[in-house]
Amino acid sequence: MLSGKHYIAGEWLSGPDVFQADNPATGTKLPTKFQHGTEELVDQAIQAANACAEEFAAMLPAKRAAFLRAIADEIDARGDEITEIGTLETALPAARLTGERGRTVGQLRFFADWIEEGSWFEARIETAQPDRLPLPKPDIRMMHKALGPVGVFGASNFPLAFSTAGGDTASALAAGCPVVFKGHAAHPGTSEIVARAIEAAVKKTGMPNGVFSLIHGGTRKVGQALVAHPLIKAVGFTGSTGGGRALFDIAVSRPEPIPFYGELGSNNPVFLMPNTMGAKAADLAKGWVGSLTMGVGQFCTNPGLLIALKGADLDTFVDTAASALGEVDGAAMLTDRVSSAYHDVTDAMAKHALVTCALKRRDTDGPFEGSPAIFRTTAAQWKANPELAEEMFGPAGIIVECDTTEEMLALSQTLVGQLTATIQMDDADADLVNKLRPALEKCAGRILINGWPTGVEVCHSMVHGGPYPSSTDSRATSVGSLAIKRFIRPVSYQAFPDALLPPALKDANPLNIPRLVNGKWQMAK
Ligand code: NAP
Repeated sequence: MLSGKHYIAGEWLSGPDVFQADNPATGTKLPTKFQHGTEELVDQAIQAANACAEEFAAMLPAKRAAFLRAIADEIDARGDEITEIGTLETALPAARLTGERGRTVGQLRFFADWIEEGSWFEARIETAQPDRLPLPKPDIRMMHKALGPVGVFGASNFPLAFSTAGGDTASALAAGCPVVFKGHAAHPGTSEIVARAIEAAVKKTGMPNGVFSLIHGGTRKVGQALVAHPLIKAVGFTGSTGGGRALFDIAVSRPEPIPFYGELGSNNPVFLMPNTMGAKAADLAKGWVGSLTMGVGQFCTNPGLLIALKGADLDTFVDTAASALGEVDGAAMLTDRVSSAYHDVTDAMAKHALVTCALKRRDTDGPFEGSPAIFRTTAAQWKANPELAEEMFGPAGIIVECDTTEEMLALSQTLVGQLTATIQMDDADADLVNKLRPALEKCAGRILINGWPTGVEVCHSMVHGGPYPSSTDSRATSVGSLAIKRFIRPVSYQAFPDALLPPALKDANPLNIPRLVNGKWQMAK
């Protein structure tokens, strides 16, 4: 049974008005009435978060790790319930939601292990040299500390892994930052059940109530108030470039500007190298179609831009892709807003005088419809017409054909920031790939060889981010253990007596963590 209420620091509270989530598969409203958020509720949640921020940040990593593991266990315990409401709210198949839940709980446990390991503190110790001439050197020690209360926005396209207890929440809680979470109106019931799992974990592990709040939206003021609130110290966001940019502008124009980590849009270019195309054009086309249509193309890593040399191999590729896409069923998209944005951009592309439409279907007139489309243009036209580079969030791609490898390399230099860039190659393409690599290093967060960019591994070496407009901070990742860095900052302690130092910096190394002592790494025992 869903209450439709906000979870604010341990209490389930009502708002002034209500909204209902859509069932994208049927185009009807789901029965639960969810409460609108208000600026007052945002303030209440943030005040509670701030009241416990010091206590939460100072907790030993093992205690916060137990909290993260308890959230994962409580989510698992509600697995069937989550899948049931999640499929109704998103039209994503049960198998996808089960897999995404596995990723979500895996990432919570991953961060639990990571904070216990301790190298995220990046503890550094320089011991005093009282006899140093001409001046004595003081004892200076440094570690990273939590920033304070963090605002997190749930993404529509990942109702679990980038939502209530998703990557941003997990990495902020791991860092020791209380989270005020703004739910996405596309899956409020899924958010409520996950918030109940967090509530149970709070109680089980003795966390302060202010450590997590869920506030539903219903009006844009909720998100804006969250970002503008003076006690919020950072924000994690996944969504559109327009929405992310609007909120980023609020974050940086506050009296105290704060970091805003927006994971936004991306075309995720794929370069088809000439030698690999010869024998493999048809197989590559099928691989591309699989990646392009996964989750109705609603992935930020969807490979929506393909770059190749013109010729018979590319014709084979396009024909095979169009025929494979013809067999992929159209499906409901996540929201009517996502679907109408998809139709607007693909309709404009289909009508564009400089583009050939290789395939475009519209299987139904439903408000959530999302059927595949592919387009074709030349490198010269693509470079000269910026609207051709617009993200098509859904199962659509544009193929850009180059006359020569030089034109391909020149085009790679013009790419804006991307989450990923992919190269399909074989050994004979190595020289060309070496020439291409610097341009891709400049624009992309992750470069792949002979794979497809959808599917983002949660691990220590993952970068899910990139230069603007793929994200608002090219130094950050929203997936993997480095994501914790977004929510911590370094603090130096000069001439502190051992008794007054935080555990991570005490002489005896009671947390048993790796530390840089006088320039040499000392590993945990
Ligand atoms: P969105 O429109 O960016 O919304 C994401 C969140 O930000 C929602 O909670 C939304 O609140 C809030 N928001 C957006 N603009 C705001 C503003 N000006 N002021 C305050 N809050 C604001 O993303 P979406 O609803 O998930 O999908 C819409 C489009 O975003 C898609 O068509 C797609 O193009 C893109 N998208 C990209 C990714 C990606 O990973 N790159 C993921 C999902 C979506 P409200 O719900 O109240 O509007």
